[in-house]
Amino acid sequence: MNRLTPVIRISVGLVMLTCSILITLDLFGFIPAPTDTAAASRFRLCEALATQTAAALEQNNFSVARALLQSAVRRDERVLSAGLRSKDGRLLMEAGEHRMLWQPDAGGGSSSSHLSVPLFKEGRPWGSVEVRFENPGARDALVALSQRPAVRLTFIVALLGFVAYWVYMKRTLRHLDPSAVIPARVQAALDVMAEGVLLLDENERIVLANAAIARRLDRSPTSLMGVKASTLGWKLSEGTDPGQGPPWLGAIREARTSMAVPMVLEGEDGEARVFRVNSSPVLDGWGRAKGAIATFDDVTELQHKSRELEKTLSTLEKSQDEIRLQNEQLQVLARRDPLTGVSNRRFFLEAFEAEFAAAKQSGRSFACIMADIDHFKPVNDTHGHAVGDEVIRRVAAAIGSEVRSSDAVCRYGGEEFCIVLPGAPVEDATRVAERLRQNIDTPDFAQVPVTVSFGVASIASGATTASELINQADEALYASKAAGRNRVTRWDEHKAVAG
Ligand code: GH3
Ligand code: MG
Ligand code: MG
Repeated sequence: MNRLTPVIRISVGLVMLTCSILITLDLFGFIPAPTDTAAASRFRLCEALATQTAAALEQNNFSVARALLQSAVRRDERVLSAGLRSKDGRLLMEAGEHRMLWQPDAGGGSSSSHLSVPLFKEGRPWGSVEVRFENPGARDALVALSQRPAVRLTFIVALLGFVAYWVYMKRTLRHLDPSAVIPARVQAALDVMAEGVLLLDENERIVLANAAIARRLDRSPTSLMGVKASTLGWKLSEGTDPGQGPPWLGAIREARTSMAVPMVLEGEDGEARVFRVNSSPVLDGWGRAKGAIATFDDVTELQHKSRELEKTLSTLEKSQDEIRLQNEQLQVLARRDPLTGVSNRRFFLEAFEAEFAAAKQSGRSFACIMADIDHFKPVNDTHGHAVGDEVIRRVAAAIGSEVRSSDAVCRYGGEEFCIVLPGAPVEDATRVAERLRQNIDTPDFAQVPVTVSFGVASIASGATTASELINQADEALYASKAAGRNRVTRWDEHKAVAG
């Protein structure tokens, strides 16, 4: 029945309604019943027989009367028997097995199979002629039924009425068809939209679908007409409140507008497509929701691309972090001496000059120590370069552990170090140098005996530039070397003595 178009269904319904009215009218007798032709012909036969028999009886011609009865039975196959009965009920004459076959109703009156016609002699009732007909069959009943005007009328009305109703409904419903209400150019405009559009009635049934949504659903727009939108396999995306339901339901039931609700539609190939669904109610003149319009934006590709973009971005961020780290490591490496880990000379000199200028400006103390390993060349020559390197590393470590974090240590040359002590007076710097000298000049310091000579200079002695201060410390160092090595010399004291 669902395959029948609504027009056919409505037409059939109307035809049935009309037929019911006709049958009701017939039942109440508004349609005149026809004369039963079969019954009428039986009655006529009976009447003729009675007339002829009465005529024969008038002349007391009983043999003619008997012959009439017998000929009636013989000539008409519908007649099973015939009889002549006196008015006191005695059967005077019979043709066929009339005595046995004549079984009238309890009332004794005529019926469709038993007909009795009264006879009069000289104006007075004399008896009756009885004719027993065969019982009317189903065919007779059908014939009788088909001859009823009400039945004929019902049949004709059903046939013509259906055609008339169908034509009329088709014309009428065209005006009610929502898709016919949409002008062709509007439908064409909806069809070129990349977004899917569904217009739903208050029962969530589709009354309009554009080409884009039909394509996504793999159906034709007309086949979607009347289909309930929620039976198309829509699911809310993960993370969406399941109690929320499809957005068009909110539009229909609560006149609520929903924007960008993520929904998933699984295709027949099992591939899930992601849509952003917007839905608004369609309101009637009183502002009540009479349906909803829903648009479907397929964002599957977009989502794939944004996921790929996110991945690329995170890889990029990671590699940026790595580059930053590597840069930092490079900077550290660029500032550090690879063998000892203390500052290299180039970086140290930049920092030294800045610190010197700041100390000069503020008038704070500022001291510098130069240190050089004594007789290092023979260490290399005797024990090899590797042992020489190890000695240089240990001296650097010893210096590092003795100075404060605010002090700076630099590998100034091959086995020569420079130490800057901002804020330290020359006495403090000399004490640090002396402590260092003693720490190194111990039997356990390295695999080989090592001593170091020191030269100390302070800004207080009047150096005007950073390099002048370094030169003073260097001068004091060479004074230590000249005085026999493994000692600490203050430049100011050396100068005073040397004059
Ligand atoms: P002095 O007491 O006068 O300082 O005598 P010295 O032998 O230490 O003389 P000098 O300072 O001129 O010698 C430095 C030597 O240090 C020369 C070089 O072979 C060695 N040297 C320089 N850099 C390195 C290094 O990185 N590793 C090693 N093993 N030896 C180095
Ligand atoms: Mg040396
Ligand atoms: Mg040297």
